[in-house]
Amino acid sequence: MSKIRAIKMLGQNFLVDRSVVSRIVELVAPSPGDNILEIGPGQGAMTRELVASGANVVAVELDRRLAPLLANEFAGNDNFTVIEADILDTDLAELLGSSSGSPWKVAANLPYNISSQVLLKFLDTPQLFSHLVLMLQKEVGDRLAAPPACKEYGILTLFSRLHFDVCREFIVKPGAFHPVPKVDSAVLSFRPLTKPRADVGDELLFRRVVKAAFNQRRKTLWNCLRSANLLDGSEQLAKVMSTCAIDPGRRGETLSLEEFATLTRGILAAKGST
Ligand code: SAM
Repeated sequence: MSKIRAIKMLGQNFLVDRSVVSRIVELVAPSPGDNILEIGPGQGAMTRELVASGANVVAVELDRRLAPLLANEFAGNDNFTVIEADILDTDLAELLGSSSGSPWKVAANLPYNISSQVLLKFLDTPQLFSHLVLMLQKEVGDRLAAPPACKEYGILTLFSRLHFDVCREFIVKPGAFHPVPKVDSAVLSFRPLTKPRADVGDELLFRRVVKAAFNQRRKTLWNCLRSANLLDGSEQLAKVMSTCAIDPGRRGETLSLEEFATLTRGILAAKGST
């Protein structure tokens, strides 16, 4: 497949460093009986090792030049299926939910331009997965591992921490890819928790509260939440913040996951009482 011209819009930076491929596959630890979803298999750098392990591999590839080439290369392997589709339009519960056997592992060297959106998609159905090994732009990886009050801490940090243990495994330099990207990448492991790390009461509301709090990072929590109209009137919001012992003058980025959970439950209770 070496004659394929990379399409920038599809985030095509193909892995050419075999040692990086092996390190990622080692983390995935594929074995017969495993179900593995690979997103963006590209020219098959990781796919070859995953299929060779005997695991059941389903690959979703948007590039209509590459999907048939992969189908052809692995035509003799009944443990491989390639689906030509946009992962962002794919219903993961429908695609993976009906499979028998173990929950899914995910292996992906994600296109930079959609990595946050893909991650958010995984967070909608954490119960489908047993382990995700994802290569992301290093900057996105930094956000996922960030503690409160640092500039990388934000929506993705909180959403992923609610359901996963996130571990940054190693950094990959631009020279490992062709074409060579401008930035470093990071490989991260996500292991789902048996239950959410905090009791948020209502996850959709939790997401709204977090998004509102980070909508304008320089504004106080009070201003952000008030303009999000989460409750009828400022009085109710002031009461909730006081009951939850959260200073309205703080900025959203200083709140821990547990504090966001407390605040969400407070807002939920106030909504229920009106
Ligand atoms: N896994 C290969 C590797 O490591 O060499 C390719 C990785 S490349 C960074 C990203 C791959 O994702 C490309 O093959 C690209 O065509 C594919 N891709 C881009 N957008 C996609 C989408 N929305 N859905 C599925 N695949 C996509």
